[in-house]
Amino acid sequence: MHNLQMVDLKRQYNKIKPEIDAAIQNVLDSTTFIGGPDVHSFAKELSEYLGVKHTIPCANGTDALQIALMALGLQPGDEVITASYTYIATVEVMALLRLKPVFVDVDAETFTMNIDSVKAAITPKTKAIVPVHLYGQSAHMEPLLALAKEHNIPVIEDNAQAIGGTYTFSDGRTVKNGTMGIISCTSFFPSKNLGCYGDGGAMFTNDDALAEKLRMIANHGQKVRYYHEMVGCNSRLDSIQAAVLRVKLKHLDEYCDARRAVADYYDNAFKDNPNIVTPYRAPYSHHVFHQYTLQLKNVSRDDVPVKLADRKVPSMIYYPVPCHKQNMLKDFGGADYVLPVTDMLQDCVISLPIHTEMTTEELEYITKNFIEVINELAK
Ligand SMILES: *Cc1c(COP(=O)(O)O)cnc(C)c1O
Repeated sequence: MHNLQMVDLKRQYNKIKPEIDAAIQNVLDSTTFIGGPDVHSFAKELSEYLGVKHTIPCANGTDALQIALMALGLQPGDEVITASYTYIATVEVMALLRLKPVFVDVDAETFTMNIDSVKAAITPKTKAIVPVHLYGQSAHMEPLLALAKEHNIPVIEDNAQAIGGTYTFSDGRTVKNGTMGIISCTSFFPSKNLGCYGDGGAMFTNDDALAEKLRMIANHGQKVRYYHEMVGCNSRLDSIQAAVLRVKLKHLDEYCDARRAVADYYDNAFKDNPNIVTPYRAPYSHHVFHQYTLQLKNVSRDDVPVKLADRKVPSMIYYPVPCHKQNMLKDFGGADYVLPVTDMLQDCVISLPIHTEMTTEELEYITKNFIEVINELAK
């Protein structure tokens, strides 16, 4: 098997090359590299796709989270509750703004924020809650939104990994991820489910006043050029990236389906193996499998990636060190926290290749070799 990758962007590009090349050429011909019609149209098209009033594009997903926290007017020392089991960006921006991240555990089945842990973590200083739709599965938003409402705490969704996915409320209402928080954030990093060919991100809201504030913060705190009302930053989605994203947005649903088909194949191949726990699919979430992450039992996980690499099967550990144990965040975490599920996952998860262009032949090869490696290492 030749050159297997976690994400194969080249094959995806080759399939849509005429559309992408024309879109990029169009920007080159216009020489409108910042702002301009593609950025405007992309924001409008993405708002329509998601069913949200405002899409505010920005430079990357990390900026989106930072600007969202700034727009809520949080003050140094304010507490923000989030899961420790996430990508560092979710928490890094809190530290940067001198807020206090408060870590909660995740649910053992879904890997997303455990609602009882959130309840226990709320104090009078809690000023925001940031759930993460990890690996493509929605956090359990209905109880979380109810809890947040009861305490009058705004919720910011980190939707960097689950764009295109949906959440279904108990009354049957189904909405897209990224439309439930007062503000939601996403990333268009190339390997994300909706990825561009560089960096990009966006914020979403249904609140007109917040939309204006997010826009101003992303643009040096100005609404009228050269009249700066507040401290902001410079965070823009450039026109070439917007042009690429307009093409790829048209394929997003089909890309989500392709990822789910890969996950189905893996689930089926691993379902009878006592050493492999396949990802749980919560009934309220239409999982879009940004990652296919499983748990290993009776196997020393750290021996697995090397053995797989010997067989040319790539794998990744998302994430080997949860945020509360990162040196960067030592002032906020460390031994003060007891997060048993997070600790357990840190040692037993492994992610396999998943992308939109995988062939049955590749899946057969990966699953066969993965099962052999796991059985060989199983105690
Ligand atoms: C990718 C990611 C981000 C950050 O996005 P960038 O565009 O890389 O800045 C934030 N949160 C999560 C959960 C992510 O996966």
